[in-house]
Amino acid sequence: MIPIKTPAELQRMRASNRIAAEVLRATVAQVRPGVTTAELGEFAAIEMKRRGARSAFLGYRGFPGHICVSVNEEVVHGIPGPRVIHVGDIVSLDVGVVFEGFVGDTATTVAVGVTDADALRLIATAEQALKEAISQAKAGGRLSDISHAVERVATEAGFGVVRDFVGHGIGRRMHEEPQIPNFGPPGRGPTLEPGMTLAIEPMLTMGDWRVRVAADGWTVVTVDGRLSVHVEHTIAIHDNEPEVLTLALP
Ligand code: MG
Repeated sequence: MIPIKTPAELQRMRASNRIAAEVLRATVAQVRPGVTTAELGEFAAIEMKRRGARSAFLGYRGFPGHICVSVNEEVVHGIPGPRVIHVGDIVSLDVGVVFEGFVGDTATTVAVGVTDADALRLIATAEQALKEAISQAKAGGRLSDISHAVERVATEAGFGVVRDFVGHGIGRRMHEEPQIPNFGPPGRGPTLEPGMTLAIEPMLTMGDWRVRVAADGWTVVTVDGRLSVHVEHTIAIHDNEPEVLTLALP
């Protein structure tokens, strides 16, 4: 069963997801040549603590970082560590927090002095795919309408869609039902209902969509070693337009 949040639970989802968005935005501002991914993780941990939140990722199935930082060919689940960010890198930051019992989850990809037109187009396409997927998140629609929107935008642009990792329902736990693939035909799966909260997270690749887990047991990388981009928002379904919960206040 897909959990339906009460109005009170939705309020708490707004709070946790806003914190995730604020922490992500603050951490994005720290991304520059010379910074290590460990420094980004430590910065994010402080930003979470300042807001009374804790990492949803730290300790999850043994994950050792406060956030995920995935550079270039790394798709998702990069562990903050000694890797240094250089000019020309694309850096995915994924922030998950727990605040008063509810989880917030959001990710974005930052280009660090990138001039490669295809790399920039890959990022723009992932953002467009997320936007179009969110626009499909309406009561009365079907779950796979969201999935199909991502695949359509990516495919039309000539990029790959990662199969092995998917979006998810979210609430008191980081991963609730349903799983939300980023591919597939429309009009399938559960009917979307008001009160569902979903983390939608396109993962696109420049080349082949196949991925593998690196020797650290966590970091997901493209098999062909080419670039990958990951973006994510958590949304709530309402009768009309979806509500994006992971927007930081100005
Ligand atoms: Mg997620």
